[in-house]
Amino acid sequence: MILILMGPPGAGKGTQAKRLVARYGIPQLSTGDMLRAARKSGSPLGQKVAAIMDAGELVSDDIVIALIEEKLDGSEASEGAILDGFPRTTAQAEALDAMLSSKGRAVDAVLSIEVSDDDVVRRNSGRRTCPTCSTSYHVEFNPPRAAGVCDNEGAALVQREDDKPEKIQARLAAYHRDTAPVLAYYQPQGLVKPVDGVGSIDDVFGRLTAAIG
Ligand code: AMP
Repeated sequence: MILILMGPPGAGKGTQAKRLVARYGIPQLSTGDMLRAARKSGSPLGQKVAAIMDAGELVSDDIVIALIEEKLDGSEASEGAILDGFPRTTAQAEALDAMLSSKGRAVDAVLSIEVSDDDVVRRNSGRRTCPTCSTSYHVEFNPPRAAGVCDNEGAALVQREDDKPEKIQARLAAYHRDTAPVLAYYQPQGLVKPVDGVGSIDDVFGRLTAAIG
């Protein structure tokens, strides 16, 4: 099963992907997480993408396509995958189709989590992440038990550089410019399932599993 999770930054893709992993037993492949890991390791790739990510812009298609191809080829994704944050451009969607069809596989569903621009700003500016285990919190909607501290690790939570207010606008613009056309790409194939992203994490998860069927 190949599922694609789409939606603007802060729609809850990462949070919902982790729940879907637990439900369906297939891995989450997040290009954003892969790129952040590359940065943390200080690899040449990480150094190359750092400035682009901090500006809230998209890194080049060939970089993320190569990252996804490597994972889809691995044994971990032999039963399927939940793609989170990929494809983000029509060129990436075309590359994904080509790599899947060469292996006799195909996308099963494109789940589009819908959230208004105002909610995107509210959600991203309040998001805090554990630098150790990557658990995501929100200062208002999903706070940790003790303010500013991860429930699991006890580590001090951090705000992603690209969640700073001026960067959120750039990411939203990139989403509307580059990613919305990806939905148009999948529409004629009947794969797009719109899911209301407003409500509790449980509410949205219930809608997603109902859409997957
Ligand atoms: P995310 O965690 O999915 O919001 O991704 C964080 C940042 O990583 C984005 O703002 C982009 O700079 C970069 N990125 C992640 N996935 C992609 C992708 N599929 N195409 C291009 N850039 C990406």
